[in-house]
Amino acid sequence: MPEPIVGIDLGTTNSLVAICDAAGPRILTDEDGEALLPSVVRFDERGAVTVVGRAARESAVEFPLATVYSAKRLMGRSAAELESLRGRLPYRVVAGPRGVAAIEIPTVVGPRVITPQEVAAHVLERLRRVAERHLGQSVQRAVITVPAYFDDAQRQATRDAARIAGLEAVRIINEPTAASLAYGLGHARRAGRADLADASKPERIAVFDFGGGTFDVSILELSRESTAGQGSADASLSGERSGELFQVLSTAGDTALGGDDLDRAIIDLLVGELQARFGTSIELPPAARQALRRFAEGAKVALSSQESTRLAISIGEGRSHERVLTRDEFERLAAPYIERTLRCCRRALTDAGLSPEAIDRVVMVGGSTRIPAVRTAVEGLFGTRPYTALDPDQVVALGAAVQAAIIAGQRRDLLLLDVVPLSIGIETVGGAVAKLVMKNSTIPTRATEMFSTSVDGQVNVRIHVLQGERELVQHCRSLGQFDLQGIPPMPAGIPQIEVELLVDQNGVLEVSAVERRSGKRASIQVVPSYGLTAEEVERIERESFAHARTDMHVHRVIDLRVNSNLDLMWIAAALERVRGELEPTLLADIESRMGALRGFIAAADRDAVSVDADAFYAAKESLDRASVPIHEASIRQSLQVSTDMRSPHQPQSEA
Ligand code: AMP
Repeated sequence: MPEPIVGIDLGTTNSLVAICDAAGPRILTDEDGEALLPSVVRFDERGAVTVVGRAARESAVEFPLATVYSAKRLMGRSAAELESLRGRLPYRVVAGPRGVAAIEIPTVVGPRVITPQEVAAHVLERLRRVAERHLGQSVQRAVITVPAYFDDAQRQATRDAARIAGLEAVRIINEPTAASLAYGLGHARRAGRADLADASKPERIAVFDFGGGTFDVSILELSRESTAGQGSADASLSGERSGELFQVLSTAGDTALGGDDLDRAIIDLLVGELQARFGTSIELPPAARQALRRFAEGAKVALSSQESTRLAISIGEGRSHERVLTRDEFERLAAPYIERTLRCCRRALTDAGLSPEAIDRVVMVGGSTRIPAVRTAVEGLFGTRPYTALDPDQVVALGAAVQAAIIAGQRRDLLLLDVVPLSIGIETVGGAVAKLVMKNSTIPTRATEMFSTSVDGQVNVRIHVLQGERELVQHCRSLGQFDLQGIPPMPAGIPQIEVELLVDQNGVLEVSAVERRSGKRASIQVVPSYGLTAEEVERIERESFAHARTDMHVHRVIDLRVNSNLDLMWIAAALERVRGELEPTLLADIESRMGALRGFIAAADRDAVSVDADAFYAAKESLDRASVPIHEASIRQSLQVSTDMRSPHQPQSEA
């Protein structure tokens, strides 16, 4: 491999490293399989670094003066600028050389002053080693991300940190730009799809970054012609199609607004209830407070995927408190914080001179964007569904790796997303795949199909999204699954579930399912091309040709089996009702045909490949034909019933 360039998200709380190869960008993990490296460094009594990352974070309480976290907040700032941070960090922030902010660590030979760059360098160094371990070669170049609002001094400090870590920062790019690149924004233009979008029309992107402690929103403009020179612009694409430019139109944010506030809101609720029960004077021991914080965060995270969660807290002396927290309740607690994020968004829009409708895409970054209410609020403001397909904690590092690959001149062959490289479908009963979007469809593309339930009274349907050319689930690539819940109970086959697949011009797939009667809806977003190489697409195609005949046969047998089961079910039920009205010979004939069909079903269960599909089909058809008299008897019977029911209210006939 040529000399690699890695992508690094150097975060305030956590940092990540990613690379991009033929299979696209991916996050690299350390020896313990961890992707996130806490941006925390602990120094020992001689001022030397002892630990970096998780171990350092865990010992922060024990060594408050020697454990440095959030160093990014100090990078390239003057000590005077940081007055507001004083007292909020347990370690000592002092004025270093030329008045820049630095950290004073106590050592055996007296205090030692360390720059935030040195701290960041230890984090970068660790990430470099993670990458080297994966790549089996030395890594000396990186694309590093910074917040869009970083000024020149802060960017220079980041470069310096890289240099200390033995890395050349080949480019410093804005975090929101990186997030956009991870979603392939700009690809349609790069692939020369002038038919998709008016190439001269800039695309506006809002990047909504809601983390643990901070909130940022950036409004970007992706334009074709370079208008660089002002603000912080990221020229993202080099090579023959240069001139793609991400420009920051505005940023807004709140350095003291994040998921931690939501945890605290839950804690306050619980403490209030504890006090109401046990008296306002209760003092929570530190251990209980710590436990409470963990509980609160766990509950918050659980409520992103569940409707309710149980909270239990014990404060000693047999005093404990237990309650269920519902998602609705949590959303009420979270509402004021979410509203504050929206206020920032409106401010950023005003600063950019744009209305919310002018935003073409919204990209979600940061763990707190997993909260459904946050997604709904953002969608409500911008009137467009935000991109959530990628892990919001990883999206910045992934984008940095994409930028690194572009700089390195690596091309992702023809997977540059102007067509859907492999068909996309949905699992149907019996393990077959119904393809909705065929391979090589030009993007953007959209397909819908109606599905229903297969069991009476079924209230949940799992939608499993697959990719590939084969007919069975086990031979396709799973892209993701989700549940459509809360369907009103109805007989099998009655609910109308419309499944829509939408691949937009950036190659992001959204699958949504709506049950018509109740309006219940659920959806999932994925990036189908992730982890897929051109070679793999070819292999999958070859395999599908090799197995085409068997696959079609098995798919047909599976469908016959499902439909035969449904037929047998209703025929058996109808037979029970009208048995007395049928000729014994007819009855015997129908029952023998039912037996024959059951035989085919059993054979299909054992081995679908060797079943004679034509004979199976003929058996099903012949039963359907033979059971017409059951229909008729059944209709006669129901008419009778309804006439009987109606008769008391009918006017007397004039006989
Ligand atoms: P970040 O700073 O981007 O790593 O975001 C961390 C924040 O995201 C913390 O406050 C987490 O509690 C929060 N978070 C992570 N996952 C979830 C989730 N599934 N639901 C709600 N909040 C989450």
